[in-house]
Amino acid sequence: MTRRVRRTRTCDAPGCTVEVTRGILMCRPHWFALPRPLRQAINAAWKERRIHEWSANCLEARSFLARSAEPAPAVSAQRSYQLQAAMLGERPE
Ligand SMILES: [Zn+2]
Repeated sequence: MTRRVRRTRTCDAPGCTVEVTRGILMCRPHWFALPRPLRQAINAAWKERRIHEWSANCLEARSFLARSAEPAPAVSAQRSYQLQAAMLGERPE
């Protein structure tokens, strides 16, 4: 499907140019800046190849990182991640 094969890609966070291994979404600082339920939702969707859900979660991750520079926390958004993680049957770590 992909014609151009590259070993690395850049971090998915807005404005970040850190190179990450293919299959890795973000560099470590950005990945761990995400709420844990969102990270779990992304991992679960990827593992089970639910691509639509995965890309929607990645979009949420990018907008979360874009918003995180702003002072107001996105409480309602975090709650929806938790609900989604619960629906996916994720166990708390
Ligand atoms: Zn990054």
